Amino acid sequence: MENTKLYIVATPIGNLEDITYRGVRILKEVDVILCEDTRVTSRLLQKYDIKTPTLSYHAKSGIAKVEKIFGLLEDGRDLALVSDAGTPTISDPGMLLLKQIREKFGSEVTITPIPGASALITALSVGGISSAQFVFLGFLPHKKGRETLIKEISESNRTIVFYESPHRILKTLNSLKSALDDSREIVVARELTKLFEEIVRGSISEVNEYFTQNQDKIKGEFVVIVGAC
Ligand code: SAM
Repeated sequence: MENTKLYIVATPIGNLEDITYRGVRILKEVDVILCEDTRVTSRLLQKYDIKTPTLSYHAKSGIAKVEKIFGLLEDGRDLALVSDAGTPTISDPGMLLLKQIREKFGSEVTITPIPGASALITALSVGGISSAQFVFLGFLPHKKGRETLIKEISESNRTIVFYESPHRILKTLNSLKSALDDSREIVVARELTKLFEEIVRGSISEVNEYFTQNQDKIKGEFVVIVGAC
């Protein structure tokens, strides 16, 4: 299995044109593509006429699936790992697989990044809030530790970035409204690179008011940026 390769390939976060030439080439050249959801990835593969076989790997995949992937690597198959959106392993289940492959194979498997889109960097690039220093929180916890984290955000002297779902965005904006000084800058970036892309900027009261009044906009995927104190 000497020189077996695992490529961590960034894919688009919405617009299917946002993938690199190298990303497309690698997806064509590897033996198998490990996908979070094969139906989501199949749209990208169709667009670029990529015929490589796929295998699903997601948060609920058990040990049998991991062993199957180990078996492919032992047979000398080159693999690519992709996620449903953006850069694999950033707040998605690929991180656990990567860790398991590292632990099992060490330097026998060469792990190569193929960079590209990521929602957090895309949001920062357009947000207009200083990103000279920022802290990325992934998804906020639903319960345990949530209040402590909201308090930390309210006191942070660094820009904070986190991911949020449509089910929780209003609850989170309400919590931030109670905790934050209204002089802080907020950006909510929604559906980046997609048809209904929207960047909402303002104080926490303004942004909270906007989404409270426009509940039809509480759809899709969100990145929240909170400017430093
Ligand atoms: N690995 C991905 C990346 O590099 O961006 C992130 C995966 S995480 C499981 C998915 C979250 O990313 C979504 O819940 C949302 O918060 C954010 N996200 C993904 N695509 C987005 C988009 N087009 N616009 C805004 N946020 C997005």
